[in-house]
Amino acid sequence: MSVRSINETSNMPTIDTAAASGGRLVYNRTSHRKEYPTCPDGQYLILEKQFGATRRFIRVYVGCMRWTCQACIPRKRAALHARVKESTASGTWFFLTLTLRKNELSTELNWKRLAKDWDILLKRLKRQFKTVKYFKVIELTAAGMPHIHALIDCYLPRDEIERIWREITQSSYIAAFEEIRTSAAAYMFPYLTKSIESIQRIRNLTGTKTKIYTSSRGFLKKKEKNGEWTMHYRGYTSEECDLYMDILKKQYADRAKRKSPITISYDKFDTIEELKFIDMNLYVELCLQGDLKESG
Ligand SMILES: [Zn+2]
Repeated sequence: MSVRSINETSNMPTIDTAAASGGRLVYNRTSHRKEYPTCPDGQYLILEKQFGATRRFIRVYVGCMRWTCQACIPRKRAALHARVKESTASGTWFFLTLTLRKNELSTELNWKRLAKDWDILLKRLKRQFKTVKYFKVIELTAAGMPHIHALIDCYLPRDEIERIWREITQSSYIAAFEEIRTSAAAYMFPYLTKSIESIQRIRNLTGTKTKIYTSSRGFLKKKEKNGEWTMHYRGYTSEECDLYMDILKKQYADRAKRKSPITISYDKFDTIEELKFIDMNLYVELCLQGDLKESG
């Protein structure tokens, strides 16, 4: 597409002229939603999807989505919280805190030890309960001692858990084991936040790519993939994406003049379920009634 065709788009109807044209061409733009800070390392994408006789094009700005990115953390944390909430919506959940007694070992060694001890505990629980669902985070104290906070779906008397944990860890102890009577996800949220805060320290201290959380297989339902959306452009600037959108609108508008009615509308991104965790700051719907094949 040439630059000329882009310039021609400046003659496109505005909201006012669209209304004057008897609803033939309708523009409806809502403001961008800026709830989260913008990631400095993100990129723009253009996605396309067909909904019956309607095509939707979305310009998306996608952040780097790293747990170490201050801009991306709030969105990632909210998304993870929502998934934990979904996973713990039914059943009875217990909150387990496992600590190690203060010792002379380095954070790295304690970290490895805690991970190994957790695996042993899990094996024991599985022997008894067959399946154990859990979601756990590891947090560092100011002194650098790692400890575990976990949501778990099986119950043992606290004395029993303490006995087993002491046996596994020799000298260690449990700080808490309690039934959650409110929202398990809400209960977990402050610890999730602390775990995220700990992550950079942990990575620096242990030199490993430590995970923010771990969970039992299938605990978190698979994220809905937006694979049905066809990606057109990746890594373009905002302006380049806008030009592409303008060219599309021009094409559709030309077709509408000649033949069937057309609707072009903008909307907020969060109306689209599949992409609700992506910062979608422009959304274009192109509806070509009865003219689909030609547009193909
Ligand atoms: Zn980022």
